[in-house]
Amino acid sequence: MTLDKNWYTEIYPADGAAFSLKVKKKLHDVQTPYQHIEVYETEGFGTLMTIDGLVMVTDRDNFIYHEMMSHPVLFTHANPKNVLIIGGGDCGTLREVLKHPGVVQAQQVDIDEGVTRAAELHFPDLVDSNSDPRAELYFDDGIKWVADAAPGSYDIIIVDSTDPVGPAEGLFSEAFFRSCHRALRDGGLIVQQSESPLFHQKIINDMHSAMRRAGFDSTLTLNFPQCSYPSGWWSATLAGKGMAPTNFREQDAARKPFKTLYYNAAIHRAAMALPEFMLR
Ligand code: SAM
Repeated sequence: MTLDKNWYTEIYPADGAAFSLKVKKKLHDVQTPYQHIEVYETEGFGTLMTIDGLVMVTDRDNFIYHEMMSHPVLFTHANPKNVLIIGGGDCGTLREVLKHPGVVQAQQVDIDEGVTRAAELHFPDLVDSNSDPRAELYFDDGIKWVADAAPGSYDIIIVDSTDPVGPAEGLFSEAFFRSCHRALRDGGLIVQQSESPLFHQKIINDMHSAMRRAGFDSTLTLNFPQCSYPSGWWSATLAGKGMAPTNFREQDAARKPFKTLYYNAAIHRAAMALPEFMLR
């Protein structure tokens, strides 16, 4: 929502908090069958995309989120080849996944084509890997896609979804995690954006429980800064099928053959360290 014409403000009612960005002008406004997509030019954060009034992506800080939603899980799997991204319509996560030369296929399934079309218009650097021959973009419900997937189809499933309301609500359920478990090969992993450690501890706890009830052997929450998301502190939760997500290929990460702006082996290890209140 905008409090006045020069500022875009996202309010977090449950926490009595808000986040504002000074805007220059609105660039895009589309109501799709699923969501309301807006794009603004801001003073200090470059281009901003919101979905249903919530910040999704800004030019200035999306690199942290997209790198942390992809490189930790990819450097944890022994040899990832087939990757599925659920959501991720802005294509930033897809771009990071495709930096890994061993990946032979990256399928992205976002329910709302309007998000990708908006990204193509307003976030050119995020979509610049979409023409990679390994990339396949589909527009469908990720819940259905995974439920219909043949067993053992993927090495990694990345759930880069909106918050657990509306079309994304089912992506946080035990039934969905059970489908993911079946769609993954042995040694496979899922990683899901798991909201704010400060604001959404219950969502994170419930996610760990649902993943384990769905059959995953062990789970791990990574935490990292994300200025434009609620509380400025975000997380991603990994779960392993027949492997522990705490063992990552640290040497390979240290020798990564591609450029990043946030992720490196030390950051990966640091992101695994949890504050006392989360350990409890
Ligand atoms: N980084 C953002 C965040 O953490 O809130 C999310 C990025 S991305 C824009 C979120 C995407 O999830 C949206 O494009 C939305 O269309 C998609 N999405 C929501 N529910 C979905 C579902 N059931 N299946 C596939 N994609 C879904």
